[in-house]
Amino acid sequence: MIAERLKQIQTRISQAEQTHHRRPGSVLLLAVSKTKPADDIAAAYQAGQRHFGESYLQEALRKQQELGAFDITWHFIGPIQSNKTKPIAAHFDWVHSVDKLKIAQRLNEQRPARLPPLNICLQVNISGEASKSGITLAELPEMCGQVARLPRLRLRGVMAIPAPEEDFERQREPYKALYQAVAALNRPELDTFSFGMTGDLEAAIAEGATIVRIGTALFGARDYA
Ligand SMILES: *Cc1c(COP(=O)(O)O)cnc(C)c1O
Repeated sequence: MIAERLKQIQTRISQAEQTHHRRPGSVLLLAVSKTKPADDIAAAYQAGQRHFGESYLQEALRKQQELGAFDITWHFIGPIQSNKTKPIAAHFDWVHSVDKLKIAQRLNEQRPARLPPLNICLQVNISGEASKSGITLAELPEMCGQVARLPRLRLRGVMAIPAPEEDFERQREPYKALYQAVAALNRPELDTFSFGMTGDLEAAIAEGATIVRIGTALFGARDYA
């Protein structure tokens, strides 16, 4: 089941790359496994998936322990409280949801010396909707400058979770604006656009996504009960 869905999503990604003139293989699939058991991650892994995203720290650490023998690249994509930065700095390869300088500074101080610099995306609140997470577009240049100076972090790009839209053209708009804002910064190290989820991955790829974060289409609906 999971192997079959993984193949379908890879096909969606390849077709979107082709349709929107993106280089084949330029979009990475991040499997979002929050709320799902370690067995589901193992099934996706056996089918070839290597990058997994988690939003809840305690749950993620439990699953990482269970899956210790697997060669997984772990991405933290959830809200970050400052008292949780130490385990995040030690147990993840990427963090997509940095939206405060203080959080970046703590991750920088707490990244273990034996590990390479932690890959960072700044979360940008692009549609300015109710969701409070994310810096504004206006704050982006200054934040990039400050985070880029932290030696134990490697600033890679931006992450966005726009307000849900049904219409393809409307889905594209916020991604397009953010892509252009990043391009205007003229910082070649910003090579990562963490754009797109199950409902809008094609629009995200059309506007430059290099990572799509897919949960529901791969693992099924989440049960928060
Ligand atoms: C849960 C989550 C996803 C996955 O969303 P789906 O719609 O299930 O694909 C992607 N990104 C973030 C930040 C999430 O929290």
